[in-house]
Amino acid sequence: MRPARPLISIVAPCYNEAESVDLFVETIFSILSGKDFEVELVFVEDGSTDKTREKLSALADRHSEIRLVVFSRNFGKEAALTAGLDYAAGDAVIVMDVDLQDPPELILTFIEKWREGFEVVYGMREDRASDTAAKRITANGFYRLFNKISGVRIPQNTGDYRLIDRRVVDTIKSLPERSRFMKGLFAWVGYKSTGVLYVRPERAAGETKFSFWRLWNFAVDGFVSFSTVPLRVWSYVGAAVALLSVIYASMIILQTIVSGVDVPGYASLLVFVLFFGSVQLISVGVLGEYISRLFVEAKQRPIYIVDEIYAQDAKDGAVRPARETAAAE
Ligand code: UDP
Ligand code: MG
Repeated sequence: MRPARPLISIVAPCYNEAESVDLFVETIFSILSGKDFEVELVFVEDGSTDKTREKLSALADRHSEIRLVVFSRNFGKEAALTAGLDYAAGDAVIVMDVDLQDPPELILTFIEKWREGFEVVYGMREDRASDTAAKRITANGFYRLFNKISGVRIPQNTGDYRLIDRRVVDTIKSLPERSRFMKGLFAWVGYKSTGVLYVRPERAAGETKFSFWRLWNFAVDGFVSFSTVPLRVWSYVGAAVALLSVIYASMIILQTIVSGVDVPGYASLLVFVLFFGSVQLISVGVLGEYISRLFVEAKQRPIYIVDEIYAQDAKDGAVRPARETAAAE
């Protein structure tokens, strides 16, 4: 059973969002106040270089429902989400962007579904009309390939916008890995889930923080964190190429026997050498991707470093997440 008057935590990572935060807080309060649940807002200030920190701390001063975790530098959205979950105290936690691209009205539907018994309620975009064609195609390709090779199914067209129950939050917090591909982790832990369709509007203000290169790295991280297929595929590529080589060798021998010695083939030789050279480099590169992650995990550095915490209530402000305390000792 859900508590009669639950605490709902809203976790919002912010990186250079000075133009968005005021509107965000205003909208959230206007939609969620006076309902049959309590609300807390957990902002994670991810090392912004604009006035986001000042704006957020002023908001935290004004509203007791706001808790603000400030990072010592930019650690990226995945780290910010991890911190948000670590510091959220709610019976259910809602993860959303501050640019109002995740429509706040949907929160009420999320909570309804949660009360029906679902432990994960994720937002599903009806279409990707607000994205460029290139982003649509690459995103589509990414999800298809990811779902095929990872053994974990990320529903198509879902972002991070979702509600997760306290049990799920605690499970995710218990995952020790440093490489936080949150979408994958959310899907990996499972639990009773459902999706809610919505139309994703354009950003309310500011601009996207994800360049093509950042998205590419994000995708690589997703593949490498959730699948060993890229690592193992090379044995099969190697076997297939070996087989083809044997066939080709037999053809050459046969040709030599039938029509005598022939010495053409400078071009074909060069092409083969270059081709197999590149295949080998690619496979070494893939190995590197995995080894670099082993390296990162082995170093055991914390996922993020907190510079300062702003919170008015001492209710459980003293509770620090285990990971951070461990790192501080
Ligand atoms: N974000 C963050 N750290 C970063 C980049 C982004 O916390 O290094 C936050 C950002 O402030 C926003 C959310 O992640 O609240 C989504 O970012 P954005 O809107 O730029 O992504 P898009 O909607 O374009 O995918
Ligand atoms: Mg956005």
